[in-house]
Formats: sequence, C-alpha cells, structure tokens
Amino acid sequence: MEGIVLSVIGGIKNHSGSSIYIKLGEKSILLDCGYNFRNTPVFPDIKILNLFLDGIWDLCYTYISHAHLDHYGGLTKLLDEKFNGKLITSTTTSTLLNYYMSTKYYSDKNLKYNKIRELKDTIGSFINEIPLFIEELLDENIKIKLLPVEHTIGSTVLEIDYNGIIITYTGDINNNINFKSFNKPDILIFDATLFHKTENIDNSVNIHKLKEFLIDNFKKQHIVFPVSSLGHIQYIFKIIEELFYIEYESIDVHLYGVHYDIYQILKNNLPEIINYNKGGISKNGIIFCSFNNLSEIKRKLKNFVVVYVEGVNKKLDRNEISLPFYLHITRDEIFRMINELKPKYAIPIYNSDYGNKKIVEKLWNDQFECKLLYLDIGEIWRYNK
Ligand SMILES: [Zn+2]
Repeated sequence: MEGIVLSVIGGIKNHSGSSIYIKLGEKSILLDCGYNFRNTPVFPDIKILNLFLDGIWDLCYTYISHAHLDHYGGLTKLLDEKFNGKLITSTTTSTLLNYYMSTKYYSDKNLKYNKIRELKDTIGSFINEIPLFIEELLDENIKIKLLPVEHTIGSTVLEIDYNGIIITYTGDINNNINFKSFNKPDILIFDATLFHKTENIDNSVNIHKLKEFLIDNFKKQHIVFPVSSLGHIQYIFKIIEELFYIEYESIDVHLYGVHYDIYQILKNNLPEIINYNKGGISKNGIIFCSFNNLSEIKRKLKNFVVVYVEGVNKKLDRNEISLPFYLHITRDEIFRMINELKPKYAIPIYNSDYGNKKIVEKLWNDQFECKLLYLDIGEIWRYNK
C-alpha cells in the first residue's frame, strides 16, 4: 500500500480558512477550502496547495464539511483555477452552496460578482452529493462516509477508510455529539479553535442564562439578536423551539438583513411554530439582524433589548446584554471526543490567539496515549502503517 501524505493549507493559527490537503496513494483530496477573513489574499494559499499538484486541475476531490465561509469560501477560487475534480458534500450543504454562491453575500473579494455567477453556474457539474451514514466507494481502496453533526444545517464529519486506515476530519462540530456512529480513527483531524483558550468554557451555563432571559423578556419587548452566521441563527432557533413549543402557538421571527436567500431552507428545517418574516418589524417578537443593520433596527424600535451571543468587544449600552456561547467544540468536549474515539494521531486545526498551547499539551500528555501532532502550514506529514 502506498502511504498517506498530509499537509495543512489553511486554518492553522487562525480563525478561518480551514483547508487540509491529503494524498492517499494516487488520489488527492482537499478537506474544506475556507475563506480566510484575516489575510490577503483571502484564499488560499493556492501556492502552497500547488506545491503538491501540477495545477488545481490535478486535484481529485474537494470535501466541504458545511456551508460556512471559513470552510467553503475558497470554492470560487478553486473553480477559477480550473478545478476539475469532484466536490463531495451533503445534499443540504450542496443546496446551501448553490444559494450562497448566487447571492451578494458571497463575499470573495478576489473575484468580481459576475465571475462568481459564471462559476456558480458550473458548480452543479462538480458536486457529488453523498447520502448520510452510507459508505461510498471513491476508488477501489478508498471508502468514505458522511456523518451528520449539529454545527449548522447540513454539516458533516468525513470518515475515510483507506486500505483499512481510518482518517476522520471533523470540520466544525459542537457539543451534543453522539460518537456512537463513528469508527475509531487512526488519524483524527479536528477543529480546535477553542483548544488553547485560557479559561475553559462551559457553554451550558450561558445557554441556560439565555433561556431564562428569553422566558423573562419574550412578549415584553423586542429581542434583537445581531448575528453573523447561519450557525448562530440555527442554534438560537433550537433554543426557542425547546422553550416555546409548548407555551405558545406561534412566535414571530423577523430576519433583517440576514440570509434572506436561505429563508426557505430555514423554514423546511426548523420548527413550524415560527412565523418567519423577511424584513419589516410589525409586532413584538424576535429579530435576527446583521451587524450592519443593527443601528437602523435600534432607530426603528422603541422597546427592545439587544442580545449578543457571540461576545462583543465593546461597552454595552443600557439595553444590551452579552451572553456569549460558542459553536466550536470546547476543550472539555475535545477531551471527551478523544476519550471516546481513541485515535492514534490527533491533528488539531488550532488557533494561536489564546496562547495556552504548553498547558494544553501537558494536560493532553497526562491523559492520553494518543499523539498530539501540531502541524504548521505547508509542513508535510507522512503516515505509514
Ligand atoms: Zn462553522
């Protein structure tokens, strides 16, 4: 059997731009191709990727874990560079990608909108939608499986079986994951955005506070959630559903400047007690708005409270509160995952902002046999059984 070559193209030491190159014998796979919000050029590091290829047309597969820009935003760039392989993703993510790429919210500043539209029209011919839980043969010695995870609508984990070697890539996952349907990986590549955060986070505390707050304030005033990602909207919807399903017949939810184009998908995936309104604010209710629309919303409303769920770096006004919780897997949850999956090697796609790498390494080595492998961008790692 030919060995496995792995390299991280993006997402390391950064919040965004997740992208990992893996070569299994003759076949090459890119795991996500995220947009990098901080750097220019935003994506990618096509130059680094091209160190492994004759050109992007040489790449066999690109897997997209979920429809967040930091995981798929480099797609147009790949298409523009004449990607000629297959895009592997879930049916829902595929639908979302088609929506996103036809909207102005698709913000690849490297390419003109018309160019994006043109590329979007071709994307259908590249997509290979994979049903969940069912093993699919990519090649005679490569089997893959997509497992659903509760990060955002359509999000999945990818399991690759290459000649009996299991490689698992998590993209983003959050808590509540049941690992029962996962195989034990030899190599686990995992989202580790919050891995080194100085204090570990207990998400359940803030979610509990948010629930209490919603109970106290619903019907009294407008509750405004500024959100930047679909993931957060979906998560808050779930909390709302859990809280209000029995209490109320219907809830008015106003989407203001947020993802109008995926409105139908939200409707099909989320509770039917919610009345969705695009824009307009008539009754008391829950408002999701983009950060850009926040000041406009505040001007229009008399009686409201703004709830920040992603944390803010500013002084809060009288009618603003902050209840940050995280959609990324926290350190405790990562440790729980390692305990359950017991991989041989674990490769974190980590963030360097929180700077507590040494302490985490020590905690890790005290608890696990499993080797924690910090790779740098472009560094080559080879695995032989
Ligand atoms: Zn995400």
